[in-house]
Amino acid sequence: MTIEISDKTYDEEFVKKVEDISGENFHKCMQCGTCSGGCPMIEHMDIPPRRIMILTHFGLKDEVICSKTAWICATCNACSVRCPRGIELTKVMEAIRQLTLRKNINYVEPSAISEETIADLPQIALVSCFRKHTS
Ligand code: SF4
Ligand code: SF4
Repeated sequence: MTIEISDKTYDEEFVKKVEDISGENFHKCMQCGTCSGGCPMIEHMDIPPRRIMILTHFGLKDEVICSKTAWICATCNACSVRCPRGIELTKVMEAIRQLTLRKNINYVEPSAISEETIADLPQIALVSCFRKHTS
């Protein structure tokens, strides 16, 4: 897929916010693909982690925010420990989630979860889900 870049597509504010929230210098990503290659959730993502890094670098906010990748990410850290550039991708993914949630978009509606499901799920899974998917 071609990435179109211009002064019109570069969202400087978005890039700055991801930098500030994550504390990571994702600009040093060299697109080696090690993160994507070892990601256990890759099959469920619409955009691989490697590509999320370059899209964020280029300030392509809509592509990043509209992707479900940051929500599928299990925060397992497999990518972060293997990245040859020492980028903690989990922090970048969290920053992307935070920026999305600040738009008051919820990805899980607690009241829509059935009592049977709540009874079956481990409590820690529910807490994690609400923390990650609701504003
Ligand atoms: S492993 Fe690190 S350097 Fe390689 S593509 Fe992923 S983020 Fe970039
Ligand atoms: S932290 Fe997220 S992106 Fe990184 S390997 Fe785990 S699931 Fe994949």
